[in-house]
Amino acid sequence: MSATIQQCLDCTTLLFPLRLLCPSCGGGRLGPATIEAGTIEHATTLHDGTVLATVRSDGGPALIARLTSPAAAGETVFLTNDPDAGPGHAFVPFTDTPSREDQ
Ligand SMILES: [Zn+2]
Repeated sequence: MSATIQQCLDCTTLLFPLRLLCPSCGGGRLGPATIEAGTIEHATTLHDGTVLATVRSDGGPALIARLTSPAAAGETVFLTNDPDAGPGHAFVPFTDTPSREDQ
């Protein structure tokens, strides 16, 4: 399983969350990129049992993800865009349209 995030087509920088312009080169040609796994940097459990984590993707940005099973810092998790993925995954939402903060 893998997750789709965004990549600048000009300088290849991986981006999360989605952007309208690349913060590295200023380019506007952005497309999807697939990443497989990441390492948990920090995890926290909410009052309802949801576990959120900062996950450093392999070769890419840090992602805020919902873990599908408890895990500790330093563990490797597989990234997914499927909110119903089984244990051992970190769910990251993906849409092809970045949100606009001015709306
Ligand atoms: Zn770029």
